[in-house]
Amino acid sequence: MKRPLNLGAGFVFVLYLALGPFVYPRQPQALPMASWSVQDIEARNREGLHVVGVSAARSGSGRFLPDLKPLAPSDIYTVGSRAEGDLRLKFATTIYNAGRGPLETRGARNPRTGALEVYQYVYEGERAAKSRPVGTFNYNHRHGHLHFDEFARYELWSLGADGKRVARVAENAKVGFCLMDIKQMSSDRTHLESGLIERPGGPVYAGCRRDVQGISVGWGDEYLALLYEQDLDLTGVPSGNYALVITSNPEQQIEEMDYRNNAAVAYVTLEGEEVVWSSEVAESGS
Ligand SMILES: [Zn+2]
Repeated sequence: MKRPLNLGAGFVFVLYLALGPFVYPRQPQALPMASWSVQDIEARNREGLHVVGVSAARSGSGRFLPDLKPLAPSDIYTVGSRAEGDLRLKFATTIYNAGRGPLETRGARNPRTGALEVYQYVYEGERAAKSRPVGTFNYNHRHGHLHFDEFARYELWSLGADGKRVARVAENAKVGFCLMDIKQMSSDRTHLESGLIERPGGPVYAGCRRDVQGISVGWGDEYLALLYEQDLDLTGVPSGNYALVITSNPEQQIEEMDYRNNAAVAYVTLEGEEVVWSSEVAESGS
């Protein structure tokens, strides 16, 4: 079933312009400030991982790695116009952790460069062990909070008559995220089949902090379509059929269980300045 979303898109945009500063979901002051220390977080995760630790010890692997997976992009609409040169495709992104351990990143100021360098911490048995450097936290964007660099990539591909991808026509290659537990994802097959799902019972990572950010097992980080950078430039893109592809951890800086499930696709049709899409044919990484 086609689902035209041109209705209301302009209204949503105007609403965002009017109310954006007030409805903005991730302003630090709008969040319950994360008061847990890094030690608190570690202790709580250790408790949650205790059960799976038994089977991990049996299989000989004591490392609890995350596994990032995006949902197919949703809430797709256009804003702007070709005449103004600002026609954009807007969409929502959710990236979740289907792995056996939390994605945990910790920032540390490099005194020489001043950069907030970020290291991944991997839970190994009784402790979170400092692992590899994965990038930086910075403010080089318009969200007003710390982002972990290059957490996602957004692409639009033209499709041939056979439905195969032909050429990339738009790209946002280095999308930063504030890594947070935003919503619980309880239906993932990996979780259910593994029998290893250990949800901490509430959000652990919150607040776009510089000392620690992450995504717990069974939790997703959601970026709404109305946010800055949640879009692709359509100005030079003609009418036609396209694949909208979201890739999590595109540079594979973050160590995960599996990199083959890091992309998800929605198929859209651009008709003039409007987009129609069907959520029913969307594919999620599996
Ligand atoms: Zn942000």
